[in-house]
Amino acid sequence: MHHSIIPVNEPLLDGNEKKYLVECIDTGWVSSDGPFVLRLEQEMARKMERKFGVAVCNGSAALDVAVTVLGLGAGDEVILPTFTIISCAAAIVRTGATPVVVDSDPVTWNMDVNQVSAKITPRTKAIMVVHIYGLPVDMDPILSLAEKHGLKIIEDAAEMIGQTYKGRPCGSLGDIGTLSFYPNKHMTTGEGGMVLTNDAELAEKCRSLRNLCFQKKRFVHEKLGWNFRMSNLQAALGVAQLERLDEFVRRKRDMGKRYTGLLQDVPGLRLPLPATDYAENVYWVYGVVLKDEVPFDAEQAMQRLAERGVGTRPFFWPMHEQPVFKRMGLFKGIECPVAERIARRGFYLPSGLALTNAQIESAADQVGRLLKSTAC
Ligand SMILES: *Cc1c(COP(=O)(O)O)cnc(C)c1O
Repeated sequence: MHHSIIPVNEPLLDGNEKKYLVECIDTGWVSSDGPFVLRLEQEMARKMERKFGVAVCNGSAALDVAVTVLGLGAGDEVILPTFTIISCAAAIVRTGATPVVVDSDPVTWNMDVNQVSAKITPRTKAIMVVHIYGLPVDMDPILSLAEKHGLKIIEDAAEMIGQTYKGRPCGSLGDIGTLSFYPNKHMTTGEGGMVLTNDAELAEKCRSLRNLCFQKKRFVHEKLGWNFRMSNLQAALGVAQLERLDEFVRRKRDMGKRYTGLLQDVPGLRLPLPATDYAENVYWVYGVVLKDEVPFDAEQAMQRLAERGVGTRPFFWPMHEQPVFKRMGLFKGIECPVAERIARRGFYLPSGLALTNAQIESAADQVGRLLKSTAC
């Protein structure tokens, strides 16, 4: 890696990670049959105020398990934001169910909760809520719609580990919550994820789906599952990271506030909202959106920032504009103007936990120069 580049995402691994990994090696527990897996499941579930946690090999797998365990399939519709990662829609499509997308709120970039009820039909079975970038979705209106229409809630809290909604942990608000422990998330296991629930029967089914649906009579199967197991090595990292989650979340908030302080007078930029009345922004990533008067789009901005040594990433590309789904005949005639716009005008700045304040200042300085140089 070039040293003058400010990396877009680098995790912090300087707690008990090494010690616990050595413990795995010394004891020989390296597969999923190890004590750290159980410990991570229990400690994470406690932290998230859920009864059960089922560790899996990544956050996308957690979503596959969640939609499958709820029995979703052909003929069912599942409502989700168009502005999200493909894992969400892919999990729905793979069950045979139909994804129904909702446009974004222009200020929080989350699913516009006011547009959800118009999407409910007699076929709707579930709503997949995804908390995007730093502010949680306003859950109360969604939960009351779900109750009224008998819908299940899948809550993807991959980007919101340690965030709360009205004081309750994100990931604990639906029937099933999912987490990711990819290295750019608030805590990492290298690759990893988790399914959270309060329902003992669902949890047991998730465990079975994760483990090829093995039964009592070994190698005889009534159902198809996956090998989505998490290894003890991964869980060892996770246990060490979880010890520091509160500190990591505080640091994320501090980084976000620093960026806002440095960028608030830069012309042409829409910055993340610091808070709503139900949560303080956790700035999983520090996203910015170029206002209409800026004469270039996110792709060019990212290119120019790369030339100045600042790593960035584009915003999500909407699900209804994905070639793979269009070829399947999905989302015909769907328009989501807000998501389409932020996908083209938005990108995020270096946001990893290993980032120093000097790097934040230098990245913000380069962003300021870029926008001022174009004299919008
Ligand atoms: C990262 C992420 C995922 C996928 O997690 P992986 O562990 O990378 O598979 C799912 N949903 C959201 C919202 C994410 O940000």
